[in-house]
Parts: sequence; C-alpha cells; structure tokens
Amino acid sequence: MGLSERIERNVDLTYFEGEIPVEYVYTYGLGLERFFRALKDRGAFTASRCPECGFVYLPCRIFCERCFARMEDTFELPGTGRVYSFTVVHRGMDGSPKEEPAVVALIDLDGADTRLAHYLVNVDPGSVEIGMPVKPVLRPQGERRGHLEDIVGFAPA
Ligand SMILES: [Zn+2]
Repeated sequence: MGLSERIERNVDLTYFEGEIPVEYVYTYGLGLERFFRALKDRGAFTASRCPECGFVYLPCRIFCERCFARMEDTFELPGTGRVYSFTVVHRGMDGSPKEEPAVVALIDLDGADTRLAHYLVNVDPGSVEIGMPVKPVLRPQGERRGHLEDIVGFAPA
C-alpha cells in the first residue's frame, strides 16, 4: 500500500510496529513558569484571578481562558482540596499489572475554580470517597525540579 493510496474501508487499514526517537523541549510559558518556580523554590501553589470575570486559576495563568483578560497578579493558595472524582488504576502505561493499585483523582482545589488531576497517596483505594479532603505531599525542597512530579500526590487531610 503506497502513501497516496485512498482507503475506502477502515478495516483495510494496516499499521507498522516500530519506534520513532523523538526529542523535544517543553516550555511552560510565562504563567506556568511562575507556578512551577514557586512550587520548586517555596513549595507554594500560585494562583491567579481574572480581573474581569473573577475566575480563579490554579496553576496561575497570564490570560483568562474564558474572557481573554490579562492577569498580572498572582497569589498563593494552600493547595488543599477535595476529591471531585477518582479512579483506581490496576495497570501501568505498558498494560502490565501494577504491583499495587494507584488512585488517580480529580481534585477541587480550595479557593480555585479549576481542578487538578493527580495521584492520591497514603490512602487505601477502598477508602477513597468523593468529597474527601486532601492535602498536597511534596518532594523535599532539594529534590524538586520545577515539575508536576514535585507534587508526589495528595493525601487525606
Ligand atoms: Zn475572565
């Protein structure tokens, strides 16, 4: 099958297994740069409030995604929140069974209008409930890299 061949039926599709080495650099942009620098340096959770519509973003942004207003100022929130939704993960990214199930939750952050998806830690998967209060667990300061993994997860508060 050549690249210019027109496929009429999706059952005729084929695929090739292989690997494509890809190197890239991901840049946070100005808003996320502020958030991850504060997380790394001070263990702080930096938010921003839209001056037009009042929506509070955590992580902070420099433009409101709802009304496109510019947001200059940031402030800190505790990073605590409540479980909005969760799932228990039994398989790894490669499909193999995990030794211990992991809990991934969508967390309503206190003081913010946004949610953050992250692991729940130090918790029995069977005891997780919607609305359960949680607090962030961070890597020790010297081990933080300015990355989402600086947050180990969220534990019951
Ligand atoms: Zn706005």
